[in-house]
Amino acid sequence: IISGTAAFLYVTQRERHPGTQLPSDPSKKTIVVLGSGWGATSLLKTIDTTEYNLVIISPKNYFLFTPLLPSVAVGTLSPRSILQPTRYLARHKSRQVSVIEAEAKSVDPFTKTVTFEDDSEIKGNTSQTTIPYDYLVYAVGAEVQTFGIPGVQDKACFMKELADAEELQRRFKDCIETAAFPGQQESEIDRLLHVVVVGGGPTGIEVSGEIHDFLEDDLKSWYPELAGRVRISLVEALPSVLPMFSKQLIEYTESTFKESKIDVLTKTMVKEVKDNSVVLQMPDKTIKEFPCGMVVWAGGNKGRKITQDLMAQFPSVQTNRRGITVDHHLRMVGAESIFAIGDCTSTSYAPTAQVASQQGAYLGRVFAQLAKKDNFEKKLIELQQAVPVASESEQANIASEVESVQNQLAKVKLRPFHYSHQGSLAYIGSDKAIADLPFANGNIATGGVMTFLFWRSAYISTLFSLRNRVLVANDWLITKIFGRDLSR
Ligand code: NAD
Repeated sequence: IISGTAAFLYVTQRERHPGTQLPSDPSKKTIVVLGSGWGATSLLKTIDTTEYNLVIISPKNYFLFTPLLPSVAVGTLSPRSILQPTRYLARHKSRQVSVIEAEAKSVDPFTKTVTFEDDSEIKGNTSQTTIPYDYLVYAVGAEVQTFGIPGVQDKACFMKELADAEELQRRFKDCIETAAFPGQQESEIDRLLHVVVVGGGPTGIEVSGEIHDFLEDDLKSWYPELAGRVRISLVEALPSVLPMFSKQLIEYTESTFKESKIDVLTKTMVKEVKDNSVVLQMPDKTIKEFPCGMVVWAGGNKGRKITQDLMAQFPSVQTNRRGITVDHHLRMVGAESIFAIGDCTSTSYAPTAQVASQQGAYLGRVFAQLAKKDNFEKKLIELQQAVPVASESEQANIASEVESVQNQLAKVKLRPFHYSHQGSLAYIGSDKAIADLPFANGNIATGGVMTFLFWRSAYISTLFSLRNRVLVANDWLITKIFGRDLSR
């Protein structure tokens, strides 16, 4: 089935490439998009490029399906399965989209320009340049929040980028192989096999669940003398994990973790990460040091430097420390030509993939409306310019045409953005997931194996391409049949 689908895809998709698209057109407005994450990619999927030149600038030339990143960290999925090259998505547009792999360094909202830099290892003659925009879609996401806690930045593993998941996998396997080294001291084996996950938000919960699955499904068979000694501790500063889920799902998660022998330490705060240990402030405020092989940091997000710099240019209106303040149409307050979406903004909703994705799709519709408005305005100018040279009878025609265009222009309305919450889902390990789903008369909170199947089907249908769906389904099947890969 998989080979047949791949052959079908090859035949149907191979003809689509930039050579078959309209070239860029200097008479059209240029939209520059910063980022290739949920918001930017959802915009790219939705936007009609007939009326615009589109430039996408991102340090990664792909979209990463972040909800499945913890599965990559333990080898359930292979990294390539959850990536979609941005150019693959761009080739479906009517006009060529310029995809530039570079990191935006600064935005000048007054001259309407963006400066970006090639920060990859290999450099050519030019590695920094500045381009103008008519509209800027600012979708740069966020970076890991470490709160300046000593050791976190250089000693902990993160779970934000693809490289983080690969690094976690590499380090975890290194800990196991080192523990298996002949003659290793007992206390050292226990240290190496202690994994500390920091943060009881969805990321920390999913990582803990995935590590537990790796242990149960694979390590127990391959390292029988060690597997029983692996310990997972989840550290959370707040009184409970997953504050965004309903109470019964929090309890369900905590009891599942208890059965899975994952220690949940709430009201406990990480104070320092050392080479071979983690320093915790316990609920009774005492400080304790726990030896461990690795620390996974899932302590939340903060704004990037470029975002702080951009906000600093509007000191009187951009004062929210959580991110860019936007109006009802997602325009940055203070900068009319900038639309900001996703994790770099401060809104009343949690900064999730779901929000960013709906914002991106909404902007696609906004740009369609703006293009209509521009075209009607251009038409009006043309008609008004024709009046002085027109005969009397022609003037009457022009007047009625002007009235008709003005009526159409009046009908072009930008509707405000409304977020429609489709529910929250999280995988908690042991083939169980939890879901809080909005329903007509409130919420449905469900957890267990059926929810896990729902979680899988929801994620596979959310993947942006058939190619990724085939790859992810294939990986799940391969993992079920052959187990996870143990090699480093
Ligand atoms: P988060 O902000 O939701 O959770 C981070 C947690 O780390 C917090 O509970 C915080 O109290 C804790 N923490 C911070 N510093 C600490 C310290 N020193 N010691 C102990 N605990 C500490 O972060 P996240 O889980 O990465 O999620 C980020 C966003 O992405 C959220 O909006 C989340 O809803 C969303 N998300 C959703 C899903 C999902 O729905 N399945 C998955 C991943 C992320």
